[in-house]
Amino acid sequence: MSTSPVVILCGFMATGKTTVGRALAEMLGVPFIDTDELVEARADASISEIFAREGEARFRDLEAEVCATLAGSPSGAVIATGGGALLRDETFRHLEKLGTMVLLEASLVEVLRRASTMPARPKMERSFDAVRKLHDERKPTYHRVTWRVDTTHRRAEEAAFEIAEQLRRAPDRGTVLHMRAGARPVPGRTARLGEDGLTRVVVGRGVLARLGDWMKDSGLNGPVFVMVSRTVAGHYGTAAKAALDAAGLRNKFIELDDKEEAKTFEQAEGLLYELVDAGATRDGVVVALGGGVTGDVAGFVAATYMRGLALVQVPTTLLAQVDSSIGGKVGVNHPRAKNLLGAVHQPQLVLSDVDVLSTLPDREVSSGMAEVIKTAIIGSPELFARLEKAGKKMPLRDGAFLEECVAACARVKARIVEEDPYEQGLRRVLNLGHTVGHALEAALGYGVLTHGEAVAIGMLAALRLSVTRGLATASFETTTRKLIEACGLRTRVSEVGDDFLQAMNLDKKRRASGLSFVLPVKPGEVRVVDDVSENEVVAAFQSTQKG
Ligand code: NAD
Ligand code: MG
Repeated sequence: MSTSPVVILCGFMATGKTTVGRALAEMLGVPFIDTDELVEARADASISEIFAREGEARFRDLEAEVCATLAGSPSGAVIATGGGALLRDETFRHLEKLGTMVLLEASLVEVLRRASTMPARPKMERSFDAVRKLHDERKPTYHRVTWRVDTTHRRAEEAAFEIAEQLRRAPDRGTVLHMRAGARPVPGRTARLGEDGLTRVVVGRGVLARLGDWMKDSGLNGPVFVMVSRTVAGHYGTAAKAALDAAGLRNKFIELDDKEEAKTFEQAEGLLYELVDAGATRDGVVVALGGGVTGDVAGFVAATYMRGLALVQVPTTLLAQVDSSIGGKVGVNHPRAKNLLGAVHQPQLVLSDVDVLSTLPDREVSSGMAEVIKTAIIGSPELFARLEKAGKKMPLRDGAFLEECVAACARVKARIVEEDPYEQGLRRVLNLGHTVGHALEAALGYGVLTHGEAVAIGMLAALRLSVTRGLATASFETTTRKLIEACGLRTRVSEVGDDFLQAMNLDKKRRASGLSFVLPVKPGEVRVVDDVSENEVVAAFQSTQKG
């Protein structure tokens, strides 16, 4: 049974919304709708006339009205929107409910070239600087759309075909996000021009079976080196191998030890030897199949071998799916501090199959939920509300619930990383709960607390600090504590001594003025401060431990 899809094409001027839209509508056998035309019909005036007589605001009102009336149209359609349609949040939300949104993109040089052959319209700029300025202003609203198709070097039919193909695979598609954080071009990769630097994130159920297809679809055809622990290989090695074989990708499985104590330079060196022995060349692709330790170590190996091989993250823990697999931070521990040695090496593809979480021990699921709560606090009030709604009966084994969590977190993380791939500013918010968390992990010895348990306790300390400083309400703190408990996470640890303070001193997040700290304000909002003293942290931490 297939219902016809509704596709909404958005994007800047001259990115191909109308031409690609017409071609796509024909391929899908559905009508083509142009919101600009509907606005003109409704106002009984041309767009230029509306702008001239009544101004842009009136035009945006009409546009919002038109998009609202499209709701409830039963059958399929391809809808092309105006270049500024997404500026109105109301319009965005109408469109989002209608169907699948696709952002068309093109280089600004190409936009100008195309615009020069088009009739003038309001807001159509002709000079490079003006175009760039307008585009920069609108970029954040465009980037709310996560499925992006670059049309710079493609004919309208080609772009339409790609969209139609991906829609055809809709049942396996799950959520697909695209993030541009400067991934390096890969030698031997059949790069789609204009798409370099793009990380594709696929979240869904059963998607592991399509690993090879997704890799090829992302231009990764080279020999594959799958790095995987014995535990994870026992569960998913066969499925991963079958998926690669089916796509005709040559592959070799290399075993690693995914215990935190084995996240070492020595192990990375051993894996590098394996690549040398296997004769890996620059077209090789490293697949990290496993949890955060595997992703960090295998990613570090990928970043270092011949100055960087293409990397695919196939995270198999909740923590890795919601957090560590996205963003390109890879590395190993040093005896003196966690993650001291590393690199930023963006994966080309992240494939999160939430079905693999079914074999994950309860404690690991709970641990991942700490990062889910963290991500909700940092950037998703909707996710926070969703978790609150689940209340005491957090459905930690429900695939649909987990898919929602992973997709929502991937969106938040991708958005943050995209803006700040090298952690020069914004990305620091992701460290919520981590200053205290890392110190606790180090002080108690790795392995006593899971990473998530440590982060949860760290978040509570940060929240107590926020409340003490009058930044957050006590009820926000209470709600968060309840969420943490509902996820089966502990909120207290046995005695921690001087090691704890020492460990905090060594933390990378230290600034001259004091410790750098991420303080929660309310769901979806945090603040980074640089003036927290160790005493303040210890006092906050100790008071959360009392109750
Ligand atoms: P992990 O990688 O140690 O995995 C936990 C355990 O679960 C392992 O024993 C593993 O073999 C097993 N396992 C994995 N997948 C399984 C599955 N599907 N079924 C059954 N068992 C499975 O732990 P983690 O919590 O995923 O990762 C923690 C690490 O991630 C830490 O080293 C941390 O520093 C790192 N991390 C990195 C980033 C980053 O941005 N790079 C972010 C957060 C955390
Ligand atoms: Mg973390």
